[in-house]
Amino acid sequence: MWKETTKRERNMKIFREELDEFLPTSILDFHVHILNSGVVPAGERFDCAGHPIEKYDLEDLTCDLADLYPGRAVSAVCFGFPDVRYDLQKSNNYLAEKCDGIRFFPFRLFDPHESSDAFQKDLETRRFVGIKPYPDYVRRSNINDVEIREMLPDWAMETVNALGLIVMLHIPRKARLADPLNQSQIIELCAKYPRAKIVLAHIGRAYFLKNITGNLENLKDIPNLFFDLTMVSNWEVLEYLFQRVDGSKIFYGTDIPLGLAPGKSVEINDQYTYVTPVAWHLSISDDHGKLVFTSFIYEEIRAIKKAVQRLGLGRSFVEGMFYSNGMRLLTARNSI
Ligand SMILES: [Zn+2]
Repeated sequence: MWKETTKRERNMKIFREELDEFLPTSILDFHVHILNSGVVPAGERFDCAGHPIEKYDLEDLTCDLADLYPGRAVSAVCFGFPDVRYDLQKSNNYLAEKCDGIRFFPFRLFDPHESSDAFQKDLETRRFVGIKPYPDYVRRSNINDVEIREMLPDWAMETVNALGLIVMLHIPRKARLADPLNQSQIIELCAKYPRAKIVLAHIGRAYFLKNITGNLENLKDIPNLFFDLTMVSNWEVLEYLFQRVDGSKIFYGTDIPLGLAPGKSVEINDQYTYVTPVAWHLSISDDHGKLVFTSFIYEEIRAIKKAVQRLGLGRSFVEGMFYSNGMRLLTARNSI
């Protein structure tokens, strides 16, 4: 089994010694991918940090959350895998039907090439609390040329804004958070659609310090812009964010099932890479078997804890980040 949870004694040791006291009793994971059966093309597998899987459904998630966080009540924001080759409809239907909107909150994968009527009807009549666009859905020949406004055309944002929904935004372009076009289009998007809530996934994909340094100034005070910590295990990046952005705008997230795998993202010479025990297209792998790994998730929590402690942030900051900030956003729709 490739999953690094407390089912392994050495992870249980990490949990008991480093995480148990730090983690609040309620946890909301704001960034989980679900892959129900039949979404991946027949005969293929999703490469989960070097571990091929055929599916990852809500039953799998329920088991893994119990193994990851013993004694915690855990809820999650769930969406499919945004791969143009996967069955988007099947994924969205599964989440709309199976997520209860109490423990598991469904977001709808969004492809700007789909029918606007179906999109609008889905959001108006089903349980979706947000949408998940992705650069790949724009289908540019060079993925680095994609712009945020192509991922989120006006016709879609008008519906999202009217319904007060959330957008889980994985920003495009090589320079990520440091890209001036990204910066200006994020500002424009938030101003034009003030009832929409925009969440920058992976802190705008700033996995190394130089990518975030100086790049929060124009974003930190936008009232409908939020930050998710998913897969960021660089404590310096986290510390930089925690120092500058109001705590209520920060949400914990993990990229489960990827986050369950053994590995860590590391910064090298103003760049980053993932390091994993087995080969993965996004990582450098430990071919010599030099290291004993734990999950990306536990590495992320370790880094969060370190940044929190260095800054002397209190329990209310931690509880907000791990639970109530995100929950407030998810339930706000009902009160609009
Ligand atoms: Zn993700």
